Amino acid sequence: GGRPVLEFDTASSVTVRYVGIGEMCQLVRSTGLEEVLSGLARYIRDDYVRWNEFGKSIRLANHSRDGVIELMPICDDKLYSFKFVNGHPRNTETGRQTVVAFGVLADVATGYPLLLSEMTISTALRTAATSALAASAVARPGTTSMALIGCGAQSEFQVLAFKSLLGLREVRAFDIDEAATDKLFKNLRATPALSLIKSASIHEAVRGADIVTTATADKNNATILTPDMIEPGMHINAVGGDCPGKTELHPAVVRLARVVVQYEPQTRIEGELQQMAPDFPVVELWRVLAGLERGRLRDDQITVFDSVGFALEDFSTLRYIRDLAEEQATERRVDLLPPMGIDPKDLYGLVMGPPGVRSLGHP
Ligand code: NAD
Repeated sequence: GGRPVLEFDTASSVTVRYVGIGEMCQLVRSTGLEEVLSGLARYIRDDYVRWNEFGKSIRLANHSRDGVIELMPICDDKLYSFKFVNGHPRNTETGRQTVVAFGVLADVATGYPLLLSEMTISTALRTAATSALAASAVARPGTTSMALIGCGAQSEFQVLAFKSLLGLREVRAFDIDEAATDKLFKNLRATPALSLIKSASIHEAVRGADIVTTATADKNNATILTPDMIEPGMHINAVGGDCPGKTELHPAVVRLARVVVQYEPQTRIEGELQQMAPDFPVVELWRVLAGLERGRLRDDQITVFDSVGFALEDFSTLRYIRDLAEEQATERRVDLLPPMGIDPKDLYGLVMGPPGVRSLGHP
């Protein structure tokens, strides 16, 4: 039952494109996951190299006992975007995701939203694409093996991004939850030219690896990697430490490394860097991608990509989703905005109807 829903003339509606979980799954399947990951990496690179065209700020984080909710805004002179994202490591105990997100892409000239999109799936996609993009600029050339610590929601995407962008061939995986490792194996078993090995410990997984990805979730200063595990030339893709009080690397590991960051002011607060002195040297990813600075200085150098996630990657992702949805003509729209064709100053009239038929509330 209930009250009738008001219907407006769709021709005059200002429709906002809507990409929900269903549309996103469809877009990824029809495009191909590896194609999406490399497409995203291209969009993200294109935006990083024009770094100075963006109005940037650190994200706004509201912390609570078990987690954090963050808003991530950014804009250039044409488009604005923001993402809502959380991080609640204990959520999986109650059948919820650790991370969910949604975002908006808007037109700077009018301030009108153009796209409302899910960003839970697309955060996993863009995080993986960004990690692989950073590694392609910083890791030793010819890397083929990865140790993967943490086999949760992000993990398969990480593996496939490194496979399609860097030619990864071997993964040694470890998680304290064996069911998570089993899930990863089941999901990736049929992937051509990829060998998967289950490791009994972090030590065993890391030994001899070209790349070490840490994607664990724990609201804690964890020490997933300690200095004794680190070998010359390793590239560490540190994804899980992304919040004050939530890190994955022993500080002595960070001290050994040339550290690449997304947006320095934010990473100083949120990344592995929070454990270091405020003047610990870092290099911003955009400078390496733009060719202003070298990624790796020596073959035997240890490198860390101290990933926390930056709004620019979500901006690129929303651009990519908009283009993909347009290309594949996804139909869904939401009436988030008032229709055109009404007197823009008569919002009251829109709510209450024409003067003759007005009633002020419940009969
Ligand atoms: P998830 O909860 O689905 O998976 C995390 C996995 O880590 C779980 O399977 C858990 O058992 C495992 N784990 C926890 N402690 C461990 C330990 N000590 N050793 C080995 N495994 C351990 O979470 P997710 O969505 O895959 O996210 C992983 C992490 O990445 C989270 O901390 C999340 O906040 C972070 N994240 C970062 C970015 C970024 O841009 N840098 C983006 C998304 C998520």
